[in-house]
Order: sequence, then C-alpha cells, then structure tokens
Amino acid sequence: MLKIGITGNIGSGKTTVSQLFEILGIPVFYSDTEAKKVMVTDVQLISAIKGHFGEEAYFADGSLNRKLIAGVVFNNDAELQKLNSLVHPAVFRAFEQWVLQYPDAPYVLKEAAVLFESGSYKDCDYTIIVTAPTDMRIARVMKRDNITEIEAQSREVKQMPQEEKQQLASYTITNDNSLLVIPQVLTIHQELIAKTAPTIL
Ligand code: ATP
Repeated sequence: MLKIGITGNIGSGKTTVSQLFEILGIPVFYSDTEAKKVMVTDVQLISAIKGHFGEEAYFADGSLNRKLIAGVVFNNDAELQKLNSLVHPAVFRAFEQWVLQYPDAPYVLKEAAVLFESGSYKDCDYTIIVTAPTDMRIARVMKRDNITEIEAQSREVKQMPQEEKQQLASYTITNDNSLLVIPQVLTIHQELIAKTAPTIL
C-alpha cells in the first residue's frame, strides 16, 4: 500500500480535494484533526506537554487547557515549534496505527497542512499539493472562517511558500477555477492505482 501526503497552503482546498478522494473510496487521515485528538489521548505526548508547559496545561478532567497553550505559543515561534516537535511524533504514531485498518486499500492519503514544514513528507511514497493564488486562498478563508484579511494573511505567512512546496511535490492539483478539479483527481487516482498494480512479466 502506498502512503500519499496531500497538502496545500491555507485555503488552497486540500480538505475539499481530499474529500473527493474519499468519494473514490480512498481512506484519508486528517492530520490536524488527529493532532487535536492525540493531545488528549496519547499518554506519552500528554506527559511531554505537561513536562514543558506545566501540569496546568491540562484540566483535572484530562481536557487540554487550550487557552493556556495558545497564550504561550501565540506570537512565539520557538514555543510553537517546540509544541509541534512534541505533537508530530504522536501524530506519526497515530497514522501508523490508523493505516493498519486498511490493509486492502491501494493507497491512503495523509492530509496535513505542514507536510513539508514538518518533514513528514519523507515518510510518504508520493505527495500531492493543492494550489491556488494567494489572494484567492485568503478570500476563501475569510469567507469560511469569518475572519479579517489581516488575520487570514497572518496564518498564510507562517507557511512555507506554495512555490517551494510545489518543487518538492510529486503531483499538483490546480484549484483556482481555471481547471476542473475532478478530472485532475481522477488522473492522479488512476496513476497511483497503476503504481500499485502487480507488474505482469
Ligand atoms: P485550511 O488550510 O485553512 O484548512 P484547506 O486548504 O483545507 O484550508 P478547504 O477548507 O478545503 O481548504 O477550502 C477552503 C474554503 O474554500 C472552503 O470553504 C471550501 O469550501 C472553499 N473552496 C475550496 N475549493 C474551492 C473552489 N474551487 N471554489 C470555491 N470555493 C472553494
């Protein structure tokens, strides 16, 4: 089974595109959703977070004190990096466990906003980047999250430029309304299926 990473900068449409692969029957692991889960389920991670941020990083009922964590990492890149360096190995472990549920899938997708930044693309057989121009992505996120342009831009600047990711990615899906997305998804799907098919000698 192939492991395929799918990413894209904020508002590129990586989640929307991943859902199209799901319609084709491909299992998708949503890393950001899973990251939130492991922060309250992975014992090793909980202990590491408490070790760095203090016992008060969790409430007595085991839920995460998101306000405390956000207060520390907001506008503090070193702390944000530290948090990410604790969370990423736990997400990796969760992914490796999750994959075991799908022994018959030709390939699975790992959707992650920071696939390239975190280095987790190195664990993937191939990678897909979903792209759209910055102004279009910013406008989508403003509409989706009901936030200002400044807020949307501040999220964008924290990410590796789209062009750099494109250089590293195996496939690009252009989601800027200039090309139909479904045919692009189908082409990549067929190529990936072909890569998993046994070679006839
Ligand atoms: P984030 O990194 O912020 O989670 P994302 O890359 O996962 O974003 P989506 O959530 O899939 O992006 O898409 C962002 C918004 O843009 C959503 O509201 C989605 O419905 C919309 N969207 C995605 N693709 C298109 C498109 N081709 N045309 C119009 N709207 C789109």
